[in-house]
Amino acid sequence: MNIHEYQAKELLAKFGVAIPAGYAALSVDEAVEAAGKLPGPLYVVKSQIHAGGRGKGKFKELAADAKGGVRLSKTIDEVRANATDMLGNTLVTIQTGDAGKQVNRLYITDGADIAKEYYFSMVVDRKAGRVAMIVSTEGGMDIETVAHDTPESIQTITIDPAEGFQPHHGRAVAFALKLKGDLNKQAAKVAEQLYTAFMATDMEMLEINPLVETTDGKILVLDAKVSFDSNALYRHPDIFALRDETEEDPSEIEASKHDLAYIKLDGNIGCMVNGAGLAMATMDIIKLNGEFPANFLDVGGGANKEKVTSAFKLILSDPAVKGILVNIFGGIMQCDIIADGIVAAAKEVNLGVPLVVRLEGTNVEKGKEILANSGLPIVPADDLGDAARKIVAQVQKAA
Ligand code: ADP
Ligand code: MG
Repeated sequence: MNIHEYQAKELLAKFGVAIPAGYAALSVDEAVEAAGKLPGPLYVVKSQIHAGGRGKGKFKELAADAKGGVRLSKTIDEVRANATDMLGNTLVTIQTGDAGKQVNRLYITDGADIAKEYYFSMVVDRKAGRVAMIVSTEGGMDIETVAHDTPESIQTITIDPAEGFQPHHGRAVAFALKLKGDLNKQAAKVAEQLYTAFMATDMEMLEINPLVETTDGKILVLDAKVSFDSNALYRHPDIFALRDETEEDPSEIEASKHDLAYIKLDGNIGCMVNGAGLAMATMDIIKLNGEFPANFLDVGGGANKEKVTSAFKLILSDPAVKGILVNIFGGIMQCDIIADGIVAAAKEVNLGVPLVVRLEGTNVEKGKEILANSGLPIVPADDLGDAARKIVAQVQKAA
């Protein structure tokens, strides 16, 4: 789960991280009011969307030479003008794709007098089994570009979870950033604070780009991108409450409500499968037969009629779907119960596309009988290969 920059900063501030003052705003008036609470003389108006590259982004509705989604403002009137430009408009950045994202929230924050920008991030390095800190002297631009142009400026420091953060880790970060004296101490301290926050809240990724040194010798966090491990969110109801559903794919939100693992893809054959491995195999074999899957969908081990119905509705909500392949292995779950679910769901959603069903496992004969006697044009299949050939043939015939 991702959160907005202002939420990430409020969270990090609780761990002592040095952050410029700032307030979130949902309207131009709120933006102006927020600026009024800041000392000035420099304010920054920042679009809050779940994507990076905002500064260099472009608004679809504005002139091509208009400024991006992060704007320095010298007066409150400029704050007002910039907020008016951003709110409700669509920001396109290298991370949003061509469709862009609508800006519904702003963050109004103190402008920092930047002497130098650095890069700092943390990820879970699965291969090392550790949290890795990735730092670079080249901040403010996207890390892919830095990795391409000046890979030698990027250094990785990993932390053994049993050992935890030690003073030498802090020194390694400060050394990698080539910082001396008090700046060195500040960088070591912020690295420790960020590590503590990362571990305490079960983050998956944290990116501070830029971490800056100010002209008056302070290390400050100017941008923060954070994502959390979804499997650990049950431990953090306060963080879960920060979720902004308007930033997520609506069909994936709907799926998560029904405890379905669903990912939308670009093809035209909807898939409903139990088990992630079987779902992957089903997608592969559809491709092998010349068509593309419209989604990945794992209904899980305990699929009942309600779940199957929600799954059908979800698949059919995608207008690209021209046929559905149901591939269920009834191990613990019985095929007759699944067949009942499929028939009831197909009737309820008024299925208008071909449906091929492959059932295997416990009570399979009973299950097939239910499908055959349902009065619905369900095409039965004997195995995975047969099922894929049949649905591809049906879809291609209809095209
Ligand atoms: P994004 O990464 O989405 O473009 P950032 O928050 O990193 O957004 O902002 C882009 C650039 O704007 C930063 O690299 C920095 O130079 C400048 N900037 C951002 N926040 C501030 C601030 N509070 N004061 C001064 N400059 C800022
Ligand atoms: Mg940034």
